[in-house]
Amino acid sequence: MAAPARKTDIGPPHYDKFLHPVIKENYGKWKYHEVVKPGVLVHVSETGAKIFTVRAASPRLLSSTTLLLICDLADKYCGGFLRFTSRNNIEFMLDNDANIDPLINELKQNNIPVGGTKNSISNIVHTQGWVHCHSAATDASGLVKVVMDDLFEYFEEMTLPHKVKIAVACCLNMCGAVHCSDIAILGVHRRPPKIDHNNVKNMCEIPSTVASCPTAAIRPTYVDGKPSVVIDEDRCMFCGNCFSVCPAMPIADPLNDGVSIWVGGKVSNARTQPTFTKLAIPYLPNNPPRWTEVTEAIKKIVTLYAQDATKYERVGEWIERIGWARFFDLTGFAFTKEHIDDFKYAGLSYRRTTQIKF
Ligand code: SF4
Ligand code: SF4
Repeated sequence: MAAPARKTDIGPPHYDKFLHPVIKENYGKWKYHEVVKPGVLVHVSETGAKIFTVRAASPRLLSSTTLLLICDLADKYCGGFLRFTSRNNIEFMLDNDANIDPLINELKQNNIPVGGTKNSISNIVHTQGWVHCHSAATDASGLVKVVMDDLFEYFEEMTLPHKVKIAVACCLNMCGAVHCSDIAILGVHRRPPKIDHNNVKNMCEIPSTVASCPTAAIRPTYVDGKPSVVIDEDRCMFCGNCFSVCPAMPIADPLNDGVSIWVGGKVSNARTQPTFTKLAIPYLPNNPPRWTEVTEAIKKIVTLYAQDATKYERVGEWIERIGWARFFDLTGFAFTKEHIDDFKYAGLSYRRTTQIKF
């Protein structure tokens, strides 16, 4: 008897197994979509079929109790069909519009807000923070909670000039979308890793530690006769990559780690080309649990944008129109030496757009 075929990679199940039947039947036939009211979308097919979406917030790190509640609501109102967007919004997919208001009422009774559509601030995409990641320079979920506490009205209503996407990444490896969001909060280390020379030989592979450094700042050496490494501190950009492969090089520093604020990124091609974020504030202190300095800065940017931008202008487009000097004047943020890109390959990074032209 022939041996059963060997499976080397099982992989995730094909996504079409989980599509709502209306989406499956109308795949590639969608004619238009519109926002019915804050938090509710309808997609209409060429065949006339409709699928409604109720968008709700999630804190991303969900307890099993909340997950079970979300699943129960999906079973009750939409045949179990829901999905999470890349910014961690929960989207319930409904084919019966009579279920929209009962679902929204039950979500609200359970303190799950509905919104995040069109000219609003949708859920903040964020990373692991102190809960889970070894290289975090700040927390992620804690920051998101305090920032959204301040901006909550903009999630439930659609009163901004355009959509505002906010992202948090807790170090510059940026698992979050901080490079392409209207406002980004980025955790920063400001000192090189501290080398525990006694343990480098026991805990780390020296060649892979040397190879882990993107700026070639690490060299092998001997300290007190033991193999170790040395860091050329002028080359270090405090990324923490070396700590990922060598636990004897911790980078976390409670006194010097903190938060930077970036503005003006977007993925959309509409009106203007996609753009990367640019630096607004190089450093604010880590001040948990409320991070007052950070929340005040974000609120200031959003409030000025809401007052000053014209309709359908994204944050970056607004700043480009009024000029960066005026942006610094209006916000009162200091323009510092960190705003000048003096990286040795800066010439390659001046063109800050994601559109590649050959
Ligand atoms: Fe870890 Fe950095 Fe990603 Fe945060 S952004 S989860 S610290 S790698
Ligand atoms: Fe290199 Fe980054 Fe480690 Fe600095 S923190 S030595 S740049 S890997």
